[in-house]
Amino acid sequence: MDKKTIRDIDVNGKTVLVRVDFNVPMKDEGKTITDDNRIVAALPTINYLLEHNPKAVVLFSHLGKIKTEEDKAKNNMAVVAPRLAELLGKDVKFVNTTRGAELEDAIKNASNGQVILVQNTRYEPGETKNDPELGKYWASLGDVFVEDAFGSVHRAHASTVGIPSYLKPAVAGFLLEKEIAYIGKAVSNPDRPLVAILGGSKVSSKIGVIENLLGIADKIIIGGGMAYTFAAAQGRTIGTSLLEEDKIDLAKTYIEKGGDKLVLPVDTVVNTQFAEEGDIKVVEGNIPDGYMGLDIGPKSVENIKKALVGAKTVIWNGPMGVFEMPNFAKGTIGVCEAIANLEGATTIIGGGDSAAAVKQLGYADKVSHISTGGGASLEYMEGKVLPGIDAVDDK
Ligand code: AMP
Repeated sequence: MDKKTIRDIDVNGKTVLVRVDFNVPMKDEGKTITDDNRIVAALPTINYLLEHNPKAVVLFSHLGKIKTEEDKAKNNMAVVAPRLAELLGKDVKFVNTTRGAELEDAIKNASNGQVILVQNTRYEPGETKNDPELGKYWASLGDVFVEDAFGSVHRAHASTVGIPSYLKPAVAGFLLEKEIAYIGKAVSNPDRPLVAILGGSKVSSKIGVIENLLGIADKIIIGGGMAYTFAAAQGRTIGTSLLEEDKIDLAKTYIEKGGDKLVLPVDTVVNTQFAEEGDIKVVEGNIPDGYMGLDIGPKSVENIKKALVGAKTVIWNGPMGVFEMPNFAKGTIGVCEAIANLEGATTIIGGGDSAAAVKQLGYADKVSHISTGGGASLEYMEGKVLPGIDAVDDK
């Protein structure tokens, strides 16, 4: 990796500012955390820093979207502090503000690796605008910056890009390092053959990924709702399946450009309605009137398995069907199984729905890497320079 990490710096006696991703899902109007995965994912970096005798470890994160005072009440970072303390086995000082004397004194008076959790960065209107005054102010509070919120590095905000533009060294934490090692390598210097599997509901949300991967991958497998726009481009009837009419021409150009690289579904699990009940059957080729495609069929799964034989790198973004309904999860399960059984391949699951599918279907420990960022992993697979990674010092 060509970016500096926390292993490359000395934090002894220093105040270390860390951008973590504590944007946890919650219920009860923000009083209860429903899934602490993101806090757990930040522990290796925090623990490593604590083992290297810093003066203080100051944690910054956003939580939810803030537009109104009500949003502030529902997205108060205070809820994270006790859970973090429990996981660290160490006291965490929560500072109920994002600037001013209370925060500055907490940092000044810290010693022996005191962990300080700052209030939600989005309480500051300047956070999402990357207000230079805010980035400079936060940077002034520490000696070193650690970027570890992969889920936020596609956003140029004050806490992700502002701080490291004013505070050096700025290095990657372990979570960011891992995402760069897997996704960054897959799209810049993959072990080949590289096979990409793309699904999900829409072509429009994956245009950037398809275009980038057409130039990089050795094979691209298409499934999910977006496959019907490709089927329409092939001149097939698709019944009432998802269709983006304005993307049919684009799908045609991808089919021409992709040639043998592109693996499209040959059969479909259809139903008369978007539900578990109805007249569910498998059809090949054309989808009859009054039916919608809700999953790829068994022959398509077999084709995918064949396309994956010998793959050295696999990246997957987007489910093959409406996996949330068991009747239409077989295609996604088939892909999970095929990936899980590959030998000697690096298998990478993009964040968002494909990550949810792999976890929900019980394959989480059978893949090399499940990305922690939805939007960030998609943009990374598009080959974009992510501003929060760009802001980290080169080696
Ligand atoms: P995306 O967020 O674009 O990755 O899409 C994920 C969603 O696509 C999931 O909630 C799936 O249920 C949905 N999906 C996948 N295949 C289909 C399909 N054939 N028809 C409708 N929705 C689909």
